Amino acid sequence: MKTQHPAVALAIGLALLAAPLTFAVDGAPDGFKVVKGWPQVPAGFEFGETAGVGVDSHNHVFIFHRGAEMPVMCVEGDSGKIVHSFGEGIFSNAHGVHIDEYDNVWLADTVNHQIYKFTHDGVLLLTIGEKGVSGWDATHFNLPTDMVVAPNGDIFVSDGYGNNRVAKFDRYGKFISEWGKGGTGPGEFNLPHGITLDKHGRVYVADRANMRIQVFDMDGNFLHMWSGETLGVSGRPWGLEFAPDGHLYVIDGGDMTESTPDVARIVKMDLKGNVEARWSAYGSKAGKLSWGHDVAVGEDGSVYTAEVRNNKRPQKFVPNK
Ligand SMILES: [Zn+2]
Ligand SMILES: [Zn+2]
Repeated sequence: MKTQHPAVALAIGLALLAAPLTFAVDGAPDGFKVVKGWPQVPAGFEFGETAGVGVDSHNHVFIFHRGAEMPVMCVEGDSGKIVHSFGEGIFSNAHGVHIDEYDNVWLADTVNHQIYKFTHDGVLLLTIGEKGVSGWDATHFNLPTDMVVAPNGDIFVSDGYGNNRVAKFDRYGKFISEWGKGGTGPGEFNLPHGITLDKHGRVYVADRANMRIQVFDMDGNFLHMWSGETLGVSGRPWGLEFAPDGHLYVIDGGDMTESTPDVARIVKMDLKGNVEARWSAYGSKAGKLSWGHDVAVGEDGSVYTAEVRNNKRPQKFVPNK
């Protein structure tokens, strides 16, 4: 028998090691399938770029999009029927969504440089930031992207396209502290685009253009990070959120090519950074993604996505099993 060159044997060995993992992660039964025809919208209605998505305790899905009509849409997770909508005339560029434990609806508008807290039914309770005025201080953002609220009421804002920091406020919107600056080192950011908290009070930031997820304590002390390669080759986290069962879901919107096939996927991870499922691909058919911008997960395990630029739609995925 002809002996293989050691390097070739090693390459084949590595390929064999890698291949089963790829199939286990990408294929059924560990993956998810799209629910076609969700949500149900009136004839003639078209979404603007769908920027943010969040799920409340009633399995209501809040969709935040850049259209003039029904910019904040509350939809039944199961049926896909519209429950109510609000926010017309307020927003300039819809971005992140967070639903807090009292089912308040938190929204980020990049161009307004503001963060909003609404009741479930659309009554405005709190605004942080000065409308249309950018800055880097206790009362101004520069294109803020997302926010999350801790059980003690503290508010964490990823700020954003203009600034490279996380800003922390109390429940009344009073500035407490901040961390981060532009850069590639630990605790530095290049477009913090999404933010979420785990059950242990750790803050997870989608550091999009640095192609990594950074993890901090609630005082901003850096704990650890996962490179984009954790998500898959050339992974870029755009949005992220914890499911009620404690898994982290990340949407990877790729590197913003306009039309050529690009990275597009959803990744399910555990708290150690192990990838448990990874699905979807670039495209416009149902179940594919293009410029996937945000992700949310319901109590029942359903996963919701929001896409900007090309597809402009929310989608619902359910586990294959
Ligand atoms: Zn609700
Ligand atoms: Zn964005």
